[in-house]
Amino acid sequence: MTRAPAEPYLTSFDATVERRDGRDVVLSETYFYAESGGQPADQGTLENAPVADVQKRDGEVVHTLDPESVPDFEAGDTVVGRVDEEFRTYCMRAHTASHVLYGAGRRVLDDLGYGGFDIGEEKVRVDFQTSTDVNDALLVELERLTNRAVWDSLPVSWEEVLKSEAMNRDEIAFNTKTEEGVLSDSDTVRVVEVADWDVAACGGTHVENTREIGPVTLLDRSNPGEGLTRVEFAVGPSAIRERTDEKRLALDAARVAGTSVADLPDEVARLSDELATLETELRDAKSQLVGATIEDLADETVSRDGREWLVGTIDGVGPNELVDRVQELAGDAADVVVLAGKDGATFLVVGTDGDVEAGDVVSDVTAEFGGGGGGSPTFAQGGGLSAEPEDVVRFLRE
Ligand SMILES: [Zn+2]
Repeated sequence: MTRAPAEPYLTSFDATVERRDGRDVVLSETYFYAESGGQPADQGTLENAPVADVQKRDGEVVHTLDPESVPDFEAGDTVVGRVDEEFRTYCMRAHTASHVLYGAGRRVLDDLGYGGFDIGEEKVRVDFQTSTDVNDALLVELERLTNRAVWDSLPVSWEEVLKSEAMNRDEIAFNTKTEEGVLSDSDTVRVVEVADWDVAACGGTHVENTREIGPVTLLDRSNPGEGLTRVEFAVGPSAIRERTDEKRLALDAARVAGTSVADLPDEVARLSDELATLETELRDAKSQLVGATIEDLADETVSRDGREWLVGTIDGVGPNELVDRVQELAGDAADVVVLAGKDGATFLVVGTDGDVEAGDVVSDVTAEFGGGGGGSPTFAQGGGLSAEPEDVVRFLRE
């Protein structure tokens, strides 16, 4: 058994080598944390040989040394174990933060069960079993409550409790993964309590007071499975970096919008409304332009095979913006309405009363000038033509 969860602040110790099998070392006792249930293995050294991994195997804690190191100790020797303090401290803080976040969840989620957690180098995740939709507002509230509990400097304690007793206390959240070894071969479980905030059965390493956690920044949430909400967060330098990045971006956005961060939501909403209004006005103006262009062209329609054709060029309007008006005017302003313009390459839009196949008109033009297109009997369009709009008009008027 590792002593790490019981005495997480102890990072230097002497122990007797019980067994060494190549790079695998078993000690009489150890303060290295073996990877378990979302908390990574401790880093450090045994007699200056770097430890690459620590795992629980058949009830023993096995330290696997770095492949590069050549240990000069054997069974029976006393060695000095040193746990990397920086990484251990990070894990203690991150791990305790996950309990505090879970406690925050108890206060704002309608129903809550423990869904797991994982400590990564840059971020930590906690999975909530809940039917509550964790929206932006709720995510912000979880962050506020978590940091408030950090500021309130709540004592954190842990003790071995009879398993039967712990199972009967409904308020205890079970981290069944870090506790799975204990649950299977022991009568007791470790119960970790954040005073007046959270209580969980957990075998990880924790700080003694929530203030040691420091700033916690919630990053994002997702739904990894039915009824599960995953909340990711950062502690320490990455928490500070995330927060300053977000502040910088908010200030940049406010500066571009010509307002303050506080007024940014209103200003963005106003700009969005204004944009919608302008888009409507522009659409109306283009529609009027199409109408006026066709009115001008109505004086110079040409007759082909007994049908009246209105053929002309149009500026400043793309093919998609012509679809409705051209279909509306075909059969009314003339039997066939053709407008050619430029939208990058030259295009044409054809509307007919149905007696002339719109697709045939496009085919004739693309056969002459290249490009492609198609449509229905009464409406078709072509594009990518290697000709000027005027050339298309001249070709069709002949
Ligand atoms: Zn824990």
